[in-house]
Amino acid sequence: MDLVHDVVIVGSGPAGYTAAIYAARAEMKPILYEGSVTAGGALMNTTDVENFPGFPEGVMGPDLMDSLRKQAEKFGTKLVTDDIVEMKLDGEIKTLVDGSGNTLKAKSVILAMGSAYKEIGLANEKRLSGRGVSWCATCDGFFFREKELAVVGGGDSAMEEANFLTRFASKVVVIHRRAELRASKIMIERAMANPKIEFIWNTEVTDVLGAEKVSGLALKNLVTGETSEKNFDGLFVAIGHLPRSELVVGQVKLDGEGYVEVVSRSTNTNLKGVFACGDLVDHTYRQAITAAGSGCQAALDAERFLAGH
Ligand code: NAP
Repeated sequence: MDLVHDVVIVGSGPAGYTAAIYAARAEMKPILYEGSVTAGGALMNTTDVENFPGFPEGVMGPDLMDSLRKQAEKFGTKLVTDDIVEMKLDGEIKTLVDGSGNTLKAKSVILAMGSAYKEIGLANEKRLSGRGVSWCATCDGFFFREKELAVVGGGDSAMEEANFLTRFASKVVVIHRRAELRASKIMIERAMANPKIEFIWNTEVTDVLGAEKVSGLALKNLVTGETSEKNFDGLFVAIGHLPRSELVVGQVKLDGEGYVEVVSRSTNTNLKGVFACGDLVDHTYRQAITAAGSGCQAALDAERFLAGH
């Protein structure tokens, strides 16, 4: 007879790894699919994390994820660096297929696929992606020494990207569609105090210019309607994230924005034995610590569910 696992965890950010730590310590022998290219999740692309409790000096995002991964492994989680490409989640036994064609069966599944970078949606943004357009300052900032860069967005991500890019760039211009930033006070103060950072307000990017690589941006002032073109060597897009729920569309209940719906104060989805946590369910807080907390809840919910069956 096929082996039926107690729990398979899909996704490896703070939510997935924390769920694995709890599930492994509860002797549920979790299998965790980390993703083939996205292992570790969004924190792999950050530098200093200053607000994760327990690290008064801050911790590098990739180091934090490596520690969580090791902790999950130490208690017996089986880590698989591959994607789940198909899931059948209704019924008592869930079926999952991975990128190598293996089929797994499980009594419960924890969804922790996180979120992906949001795009502006311009044809030339896509065409020039990797040729001056980037979503990750820590990955690509190094290539822009003494260059002039634009960052689009007004949240914490945009402030963080802009600050980080000033290590390399000669100038960083934050372009925001309103006159007020959404970012937290401390991040705004840091960006405003940085002499290499300038702001363009009430403005949207209407096109990315350049034949082989980015040479500039077409802009539109949303208050006056005035259009202009400005030279830039690169564009960093930091306008938020979209939940990575595409694999479960049509199975698990999603809200209007594509986040997985969970029953209040739990990680229960509409399907029995299927739990969801982290950025996949959360459009409010989306912090490493809240994702880790909900990963813990998902493992406890799965444990109780299995105990009841
Ligand atoms: P966010 O808070 O949702 O901010 C997205 C920003 O992009 C907003 O300013 C928004 O403008 C703008 N935007 C959205 N769609 C746009 C579009 N199509 N064109 C132009 N601009 C657009 O996203 P985030 O900055 O990625 O942050 C997500 C969460 O992670 C937040 O909870 C944040 O606190 C957290 N985070 C924390 C840290 C940290 O503490 N170190 C670092 C990064 C992120 P409007 O303001 O007009 O809506």
